[in-house]
Amino acid sequence: MQIETADKQFFTTKVLQWYQPTARPLPWKAIKNPYHIWLSEIILQQTRVEQGLPYYERFVESYPTVVDLAIAPEDEVLKLWQGLGYYSRARNLHATAKIIATQYEGIFPSTYEQILKLKGVGVYTAAAIASFAYGLPYAVVDGNVYRVLSRFFGIATPIDSTVGKKQFSQLAQALLHTPDPALYNQAIMDFGATHCTPKNPLCSTCPMATACIAHQEQQVNLLPVKSKKLKHKKRFFYYLVIHTSEGIYLRQRGAGDVWQHLYDFPLIETEALYPREQVVATMKQHEKWQKWFGKEGVEVLKLSKLYRQTLSHQKISTFFIEVFYKGNLKPIFEQEKEKFVLINPEKIQTFAVPKMIADYLSAPSKPEEESQLKMF
Ligand code: SF4
Repeated sequence: MQIETADKQFFTTKVLQWYQPTARPLPWKAIKNPYHIWLSEIILQQTRVEQGLPYYERFVESYPTVVDLAIAPEDEVLKLWQGLGYYSRARNLHATAKIIATQYEGIFPSTYEQILKLKGVGVYTAAAIASFAYGLPYAVVDGNVYRVLSRFFGIATPIDSTVGKKQFSQLAQALLHTPDPALYNQAIMDFGATHCTPKNPLCSTCPMATACIAHQEQQVNLLPVKSKKLKHKKRFFYYLVIHTSEGIYLRQRGAGDVWQHLYDFPLIETEALYPREQVVATMKQHEKWQKWFGKEGVEVLKLSKLYRQTLSHQKISTFFIEVFYKGNLKPIFEQEKEKFVLINPEKIQTFAVPKMIADYLSAPSKPEEESQLKMF
């Protein structure tokens, strides 16, 4: 579609006039430090600003320079990240810090092309770092920008299609206010985040309502368009919290699945979600249970309520079964492919665990969970 130069000029001018740099103060806005900007951008991917803010502050405080982050142990970085989800971001962050420390002698790369080559950095993040830290003329295109552009210019091309991505990125680049790319990028993102919001945008007080196609044609709630609906795979976890006279067992998760390198408990995963009253009896029949505990059996102490967590592509339903085992699991766990560690239960808070496990560990024990003992 052809967009008139006058429309572009009107749009860019109005966005800049609307912007009040101090209206939404955030610690990474007023800085030029590329490492800190990169940290904030990675933390804010798939995370709300309010949730990401304390993590940003903790990372900057713990690792003031990219070299400090590079030399930190991975477990420590993952622990600091705990609760933010999408842990591949933390691993990429750490791996990239190491590359910057070694290949770039600790100096953050300063061209768009070099920044884009960093692990975990896509075109949006590269444009954000290049423009905010170095004033380079690259337009950012995040969810806010897609929404504002598709509404104002009335573009119904799906934003998650290859054609749509190209169309919106070309348009965003054409609109960029090149004398101050950082100011303009921040302005359009703030406009989308606080004014042209996904639900109930403030059209009645919008400075560009007279020229906004979506507003003029009552299409605001229909734009932007997405072609794919996200499908969530359902998974069912039954965690065994195995108490022994020497401590409890944790397992470090391997590669190729969710929560890579984080710690959880020995796990039985099934294709089905069983009613709570059938969980223990069903697990006792499972080959893993029988392999681990053999004929000796275990004392079942507690069965939790059902926990649920939704990840980007998966919905996980989980029961925790606490047991006491008086035998020796070490030789059995040594044969498993995964890494099991026997720990003092008091030390569990020092391990990086998925949010669901942290929630379970911090939940007060419920009398009805204990009383299930009678049923087993
Ligand atoms: S008029 Fe409404 S839909 Fe159009 S840009 Fe303004 S806030 Fe967004």
